[in-house]
Amino acid sequence: MHDLTFAKEIVRALNIKQNSIPNGSRITSINAALSPLSHVKPETLTETFRVMTKGTELDKIGLNIKVLKIELTCRTCKHAFQIDKPTTRCVKCNDSDLDMAYSKEFVIESINVADNQSQQKTS
Ligand SMILES: [Zn+2]
Repeated sequence: MHDLTFAKEIVRALNIKQNSIPNGSRITSINAALSPLSHVKPETLTETFRVMTKGTELDKIGLNIKVLKIELTCRTCKHAFQIDKPTTRCVKCNDSDLDMAYSKEFVIESINVADNQSQQKTS
């Protein structure tokens, strides 16, 4: 179950961040990205994260998850293209000699922190 692995990774990143920010500051949200190759939907990951952090401080943190596109380059005709779903053929020449530029399944991009002095904007 990849969603569980990714949710644990989010919790771990949040705990590390929590320990590095000054007292009075708090984490408001986290931005992460999923590859379509991970076969995990953002909704599923959010759900898993909520269940995992229910009743803890982390429960209040916003989770922004986007789905990345897969970037492929055809080694035969050099055509570069983006896809949402895994494919084994070049969309131009139908060759199967493809180079995948993005292979990470899950990335934590940034963690947003608010300090208690400044006004917290709600978005
Ligand atoms: Zn091609």
